[in-house]
Parts: sequence; C-alpha cells; structure tokens
Amino acid sequence: MLLTPSTYSMTWDLDVIFPGGSSSKEFRDHLEKVEKEIHSFEASIKSWDASGSEDSGLSDILEKFQKADSGLEQAESFVSCLQAQNTDDVNANELRGIVTALASQLNTALTHLDKAILEIDDSVWKSLVENEHLNELSFILNERRRQAVDKLSKEEEALINDLAVDGYHGWEEMYDAIVSQLCIPFKENGKEVLLSVGQAQNKFSSLDRQVRKNVFDEWEKAWGKNAELIATTLNHLSGFRLAVYKKRGWNDVLKEALEYNRMSKETLDIMWKVISDNKKPFVEFLKRKAHLLGVEKLNWYDLDAPATDSSKTYTYREGAAFIIDHFGKFGDELSKFAEKAFKGRWIEAEDRPGKRPGGFCTSFPLSSQSRIFMTYSDTYENVSTLAHELGHAFHTYAMKDVHPLNCHYAMNVAETASTFAETIVADAAFEQAKENSEKIALLESKIQNSIAFFMNIHARFLFETRFYEERKKGMVSTERLNQLMEKAQKEAYADSLSQYHPYFWGSKLHFYISDIPFYNFPYTFGYLFSLGIYAQAKKEGKGYEEKYISLLKDTGRMTVEELAKKHLGADLTKEDFWQAAVDLCIKDVEEFLELTK
Ligand SMILES: [Zn+2]
Repeated sequence: MLLTPSTYSMTWDLDVIFPGGSSSKEFRDHLEKVEKEIHSFEASIKSWDASGSEDSGLSDILEKFQKADSGLEQAESFVSCLQAQNTDDVNANELRGIVTALASQLNTALTHLDKAILEIDDSVWKSLVENEHLNELSFILNERRRQAVDKLSKEEEALINDLAVDGYHGWEEMYDAIVSQLCIPFKENGKEVLLSVGQAQNKFSSLDRQVRKNVFDEWEKAWGKNAELIATTLNHLSGFRLAVYKKRGWNDVLKEALEYNRMSKETLDIMWKVISDNKKPFVEFLKRKAHLLGVEKLNWYDLDAPATDSSKTYTYREGAAFIIDHFGKFGDELSKFAEKAFKGRWIEAEDRPGKRPGGFCTSFPLSSQSRIFMTYSDTYENVSTLAHELGHAFHTYAMKDVHPLNCHYAMNVAETASTFAETIVADAAFEQAKENSEKIALLESKIQNSIAFFMNIHARFLFETRFYEERKKGMVSTERLNQLMEKAQKEAYADSLSQYHPYFWGSKLHFYISDIPFYNFPYTFGYLFSLGIYAQAKKEGKGYEEKYISLLKDTGRMTVEELAKKHLGADLTKEDFWQAAVDLCIKDVEEFLELTK
C-alpha cells in the first residue's frame, strides 16, 4: 500500500540552519565562534601537563576538540550546500576559503595534540585510556597515537598543514572551478543548448542512442578542451600528496587511504581478487545488453542506457512514497526517518541549471539534521539515488546517542548504509513488479550497480594506483593519462566495450578530493559489505533493524575487520565473505539472462 503524502517541496530549507544563505550574518558569527573554539582547544593542549596523573586534563582537551570539530563540520556542510545549489554563488566560494583555513587550523592543533600524546610514556598512556572517563574513546585515542608515530615533527606537520590550504586543497577548488564553467553544447529540438556537466550526464541514460552518442562526442570534446588545465591540477594535487608521503617516509601510496578506512591491505587485496575472478557473468550481462540494444558491442555511452524500454517514471511524490513504503518493510525507524526528511525539506532535488552535478548527503551535527543534494528527473535511477542518500542520512541519525568523537566513520562503511537502503528499495520494487519488462528493468538497475562497483570503480582503482606510481617519477602528460585510463578501463571491463572514455580522469571529481585519497575502493567495499548485511537481514526479517542500528553505531569505533567479526561473524581477510556477496550479484545476472532469453 502506498502512502499518499501531499506534494513534497523539491528544494531544501537551509534557513533553519543559518538564515540568509551565503550572506547570512548568523553564519559569519558561527565561523567566528568556531575560530575561538579552535584557539581554546589549541591553548589547552599547550598548557597541558601530560606527565603522570590519572586523567591529567585530557578529557577536558577532548571536549574542547569535540566542540570545535562539530562546529567546523556544521560550517563545512553549510558551505557545501551553498556551493552545490548555485555554482555562481561567489560569496559561497569566499566562505569556502574561510572554512578551509579553519579546518587547517584545527588540523594543526590536532597535530600538537598528537605529538603531546606521543610524548606520554607507554604505561601512563595505557592507564590513561583505560580510565573511566576515556575508556569509551580508547579506540580513536590509540589510533591517533599509532598514526602520530608515522608522522613528522610537530613543527613540520604544522607547516605542511598551513601550506596545504593553497598548495593542496587549493587544487581541489581549482578543479571545481574548471568544472563549474564547463558547458556541453547539445542540440535539442533543432536548437543548440548549453548543458551543465550534471545535465549532460543525465542524457547518458537516454533511450535514444543518437542522443547518447551526440552528448558523448561533445562531452569528450569539452573535457579534451580543458584537459591541459585539469591534468595540471591533477599532477599538482597528487604531487603535493606524494611529496608529503615521501617526507614522512611512506612508500605505499595506499597507506593513508587504508588507515583512513580502517582496513587492512589483506582485506583490500582479497576483495579485488574475488572481483577479478568473477568478471565473466558480468561480461555476459554486457553482451546480452548489447544484443538488446541491437549493437555488436556496447560503447561507453551505452553503459547507463536502459536495455529495455520500460519507461516507467516516478514523479517526485511517487518516488518519495515508494521509498517510505519500502523502507517500512525493513523497519519502522528507517521509514519514519525518511518521511521526516521529505516533510522537513532536508532534500534539494529540483532539476534546474546552475546546480552541481551528482548527489551527496551532509550532516549538521549542531542541528541534528542532514541535507541531501541531487537532481531529480523522474527516473527510477533518481529514486534509487534518493534512497541511497537517505541511507547516509539514516546512518548519522542512528548514531545520535553515540559519543560525537566516536561518530567519525570512514568512507567504506559510510557507503554501507547508503547501499543497504538502495538494495531494500531495489528488491522490494522487484518483488512488487508484475510485468516482465518492469522486472527486467529493475534487475538491470541492480546489475548496473554491480557493473559500477566491479568494473567502473575497479578501473578507477587500477588507474589511480598506476598513475601515482608514475607521478612519483615526474609529471604525467595528458596523453599518458588517457593511455593509463583506457588501459585500466579495458582491463576492468574485461575488454567488453567497443569504445572507452579516456578523459574519465578529468570528468570524475573523485580523483580531486584532497581530504580523502583513493576515493574509489571504499564504494566497492561498502557495496559488498552491505550485501553481506542484507543477506542476514533477509534471513531474520523485520526484527533485524535493531541489530542493524547497533552495527551502524559501532562503525566509528573499530576496524572493519572487527566490525564484521562482531556483528556478522565474518572474516574479511578470507575469500568466503566476498564470494558470498558477489554470488548475490551473480544471481541477479542469471535471472536477467533468463528473463531476456
Ligand atoms: Zn554514497
């Protein structure tokens, strides 16, 4: 039974967070307050005498840190929302600069804390993190201490942080600036229009092959025209990163990413191995899809096109009702939460020019709210994206009673809740479908995820690891970047396409996120990890929600290996777990092949 809500607004409400958008006085005041909090945190570290005594003031320091940290997150989220909703908002860009500088200040202060922590004697440290005030935070404290060992001196790390504002994060801003002025010319009804990157991207799912081809040709041209600028940006961003790694004596480019994701190299390697060993069924799917589209081999621009003409569309209201209803079959908390998000205008979904492409979810810790950004144009994919982002928001909500310093979960587990939410909607929709064509379309949409995580993301990972190795030796030319990308794509897609997307290194913003290196494998991890959880949830029925929430609560205070062991009884360093999850995806392919015989 579908709920029948009145129309939901397609634009979000940011005024309840800070009134007045990018000229908000309240927001300026907030930034000043955060700066004071950072100073106060820094001062407390400097006057800290860590030697000997039981707690010796560390609880107090951490409380100050938490305040500054939450305030900064609130500010970062606000600016992200402002920039995304209107790429021409110059005030927002200026605010971004201020927030980045504050983040750097906080980082520097943290470096001081880390070094102070390092100077504490082992036995004193042990009793410190085991005392009743700090025991709850022992995982993150031990983690900080361990990671601090691998870094440079306090002064050197502080200098790096200061230089990073313009020399590192600045390159990410540069990338955003290039992309926001990029237009893709496109002929529509005999008239030429200029599409933003996000609008052009939506055309790749057009049923009309000619439309896809035209937009892809212009797409490649547009990225090609900007390739030198973007390649320079990528080379400098990665160059800074590598220079810092070298100074710290880190040889493995994956070190930071793995630590950030709290996972071992063993886990990562075994995950990719299982995926590489299981490409065949997905190649079969691509072949069948080519056949259904009436072509010999799929082109890159066919990947997002629906293989079947199931033109079922969902208005925003229908999409919302669909999600709320199907979330409800898994659990009441998730469903009630989604409804609150729609009603409370937590979502920016309007289809209009001048918006950033893509989707994201960001949280406002001081308001206990999240905001979701996307562009909704009535497709099932949009419904799926909406469910995905709501999954992220639910993760934050599930952790509402957890100590704020234990709420920082990494990217790989962040994608768990989102993918989980997406899977609920996909499966429920499939079960409900009556027509064969609708079943095929829904299955395809699910398999498209597998293709994305096992092929597209795999290509990004292969490209990025190889690119970084070459970058260690010097600047990598545009031509070489194209070669590396095409080779990685061919390998990841097991040679199943007729044409690839060499400029993908330019069109994918994930290569330019300075805060988080290797923003790719965590997606694949999250996908398979969530499928593992999903399998368990299906077995246990509606009562599983409580267990699911307790798993989410732990995501910020243990390694992924520990998390899997505690809540799923699984060993992530063994093939079995991954194979079982991939098998679920293969089952979808088999069903698809059967239905489209
Ligand atoms: Zn996500």
